[in-house]
Amino acid sequence: MIDIQKIRADFPILSLNVYGKPLVYMDNGATTQKPQIVIDTLIHMYSAQNANIHRGVHFLSEQATEAYERARQTVREFLNAELSQEIIFTAGVTSAINLVAFSYGERFVRAGDEIIVTVMEHHSNIVPWQMMCERKGARLRVVPVTDSGELDMDDYQRLLSPKTRLVALAHVSNTLGTVNPVREAVCLAHQAGAHVLVDGAQSVQHIPIDIQLIGCDFFAFSGHKLYGPTGIGVLYGRKELLDEMPPYQGGGDMVDCVRFEKTTYNELPFKFEAGTANYIDAVGLESAIRYVRSVGMDNILAHEQDLTQYALKELLKIKGLRMFGMSEKRVATFSFLLDNIHPYDTGMVLDKMGIAVRTGTHCTQPLMQRYGIEGTVRASMTFYNTRKEVDLLCEGLEKARQLFS
Ligand code: PLP
Repeated sequence: MIDIQKIRADFPILSLNVYGKPLVYMDNGATTQKPQIVIDTLIHMYSAQNANIHRGVHFLSEQATEAYERARQTVREFLNAELSQEIIFTAGVTSAINLVAFSYGERFVRAGDEIIVTVMEHHSNIVPWQMMCERKGARLRVVPVTDSGELDMDDYQRLLSPKTRLVALAHVSNTLGTVNPVREAVCLAHQAGAHVLVDGAQSVQHIPIDIQLIGCDFFAFSGHKLYGPTGIGVLYGRKELLDEMPPYQGGGDMVDCVRFEKTTYNELPFKFEAGTANYIDAVGLESAIRYVRSVGMDNILAHEQDLTQYALKELLKIKGLRMFGMSEKRVATFSFLLDNIHPYDTGMVLDKMGIAVRTGTHCTQPLMQRYGIEGTVRASMTFYNTRKEVDLLCEGLEKARQLFS
């Protein structure tokens, strides 16, 4: 069990008032708030440990390098990856997926090959593959989603073939809240001889992750959705594959010996970390990971499951509310429409009550197209949200209904 009042006190922004009302922050799918300890870590790094890493022999540089490499170890442990060389720091999920789409594509994808994605993917897990398919003459195949917002696993199996090179799918849908059966998806893909990238942008903050159990070849997440800083993220990649993949970007740190005749590259993971790494935010991310581990991922999961059940029950009581995403395996992310009210209007009413939700397509336009809608209201909750906040959300929705219906 978590002590919710103590947890909330760890996040300074949660005590803000908005328009004179206590902030109810339910836009965690877009980004999460930061505990004081992460903010303090960033201040400490800039005020006491800042020097460029990997290059200096002086005290500060060595300290910063040590902190950065320790952060990599902490990420490795958090994901239960086997090797720290398999942990590459990136700017976030988007840059991690672009790295794989480019570098894996260069090495492994040929004309006529197929890449499988799903209808529920975020644009970040669609567009880089489209760009790669265009470059390589490969074909993008798409797994459909059922009415209740789950992957159609029969269709998935039908799409897998000897032509499939790679499957890229979200662990958790940022719009529907669905938790996808990634382990099963990986097993089936591997049987077909394909590799798998799991987009963990919406899972690492809610579900304990064990990369070795999932068995995927690549896994990506963003620090800012895990209570850490913006501008830092992680790509996990299986060493045998990363070893064979060419560098994505050239520059400092990723090289071994630079000659005009021929340049050789650094070993893993540095081969994929060109230029000055974002070592400050990597250490900030480490602090966030230490924080969630101190709360306990299992405790977070238990609190959020309770919140999910409560929120679902209360939201479904609201007349005229149409929920998108009714999977049994889900997180506390709810996308819905209220009567014929435009999502922006609903969002505006909630905003004036201090309730922050997101409205629009949530970077999942193909999914909106699948349901024949323009957008939704999305309330995405996490372990610092409470049942009382769910009640406030429902009150706000009733108010919007009365105003606009
Ligand atoms: N994938 C999913 C499922 C997401 O929800 C998001 C962001 O909302 C992304 C990828 C992109 O993350 P970022 O903008 O941090 O790179």
